[in-house]
Amino acid sequence: MAISRIEQLCVDKGMKMTDQRRVIARVLSDAHDHPDVEEVHRRSVKIDPHISIATVYRTVRLFEEASIIAKHDFGNGRSRYEEVPDEHHDHLIDIQSGRVVEFRSAEIEALQEAIARRHGFRLVGHRLELYGVPVDDEADKPEKR
Ligand SMILES: [Zn+2]
Repeated sequence: MAISRIEQLCVDKGMKMTDQRRVIARVLSDAHDHPDVEEVHRRSVKIDPHISIATVYRTVRLFEEASIIAKHDFGNGRSRYEEVPDEHHDHLIDIQSGRVVEFRSAEIEALQEAIARRHGFRLVGHRLELYGVPVDDEADKPEKR
């Protein structure tokens, strides 16, 4: 089986890779939905049933500290993770399902820089999360939640 992107990044950083770390690295590399630790665990045990949730917590923290994965707080108190992206993007979160839409807006990027400049700053980073409910879903089920 080919080495996953995250495993390769770990190796490049000189990290010691156990079999369980390799599995967790693969699960995170394959994920495009910003899973939380429990979801990473669910997917990992399908590959190796001996992986504990504690191991997933530790490994995810290790990858995060090495800046290989990024942690997000999307408002429900559960951290969610993705591989550190090559290109910056922002997130739109469906508060009903937890689904995450990635987007990038040149207008928003420019506006943020203009706001920083106006206050005497050069912008070096930002975090932007939009929270919403799908319009169709809301119309179909008005009493949901
Ligand atoms: Zn993302």
